[in-house]
Amino acid sequence: MSDRFKLNGKIALVTGSSQGIGHALISGLAEEGAIPVVNARSTDHAKAAVKAFEDKGIKAYSAVFDVTDKSAVEAGVNQTEAEVGPIEILINNAGIQYRTPLEDYPEEQWHRLLETNISGVFFTGQAVARHMIKRGRGKIINICSVQSELARPGIAPYTATKGAVRNLTRGMCTDWAKYGLQINGIAPGYFKTPLNQALVDNPEFSAWLEKRTPAGRWGDVDELVGAAVFLASPASSFINGHVLAVDGGITVSV
Ligand code: NAP
Repeated sequence: MSDRFKLNGKIALVTGSSQGIGHALISGLAEEGAIPVVNARSTDHAKAAVKAFEDKGIKAYSAVFDVTDKSAVEAGVNQTEAEVGPIEILINNAGIQYRTPLEDYPEEQWHRLLETNISGVFFTGQAVARHMIKRGRGKIINICSVQSELARPGIAPYTATKGAVRNLTRGMCTDWAKYGLQINGIAPGYFKTPLNQALVDNPEFSAWLEKRTPAGRWGDVDELVGAAVFLASPASSFINGHVLAVDGGITVSV
């Protein structure tokens, strides 16, 4: 067996990994041998995720911080580096959604979305990259979206943030590839997670989505794991600044 896709002993920090896509991704990396560091704002959520790993015999760690709080991010990243070891893989996954017509969109929600979905990626990426740059290696994967490319009614601010994450991915690559870092993105289509509960519960939306997606269905979060393992592994060593769509074909068809 080749080691191209192996992540043995590599420390992987995934923001927002107590549930949903983040949890699926960190579990998938751990299955390939990575050491998982779970992040969430809630200590209880992070503890439950760590326990789930330990129940399966996998040693796991937590780093509880809010990605919108720059000093908390730096403290959490520095503590992980000091107590767990070098972070070789970072997935910037934590993100939120808020749906309402644009003309009524509350200012407070606009700022929350920008802070979480854009500043969170910048703060965590910068804090981890400073360590990776010193070592001359590291993999950063930013979770973008089908909304990095396409708009939908009621979520214009989310669309703006995910377009920004795509371009921040390109900017991080442009500035940091010369230090041996690789920064890529994954753009998920529609997956059944708590973030999308309102859509999952809406039969009209599900029927529309199944018709609109060439694959004819919602995605399963485990179907994102292959892309994350690939971008975190030696197999992708010359891929940089790329955003890989995992969306059943929705962004290539009208
Ligand atoms: P989710 O089920 O709502 O999970 C969000 C996770 O992020 C939780 O673990 C939450 O834990 C954590 N979190 C939220 N705000 C945080 C903050 N400020 N700091 C640290 N952790 C925070 O969401 P999801 O559907 O898995 O989405 C994950 C990512 O994928 C997001 O970036 C989203 O935009 C993107 N995405 C999702 C879909 C989809 O179909 N679901 C499609 C495209 C892109 P705590 O509450 O304990 O903090």
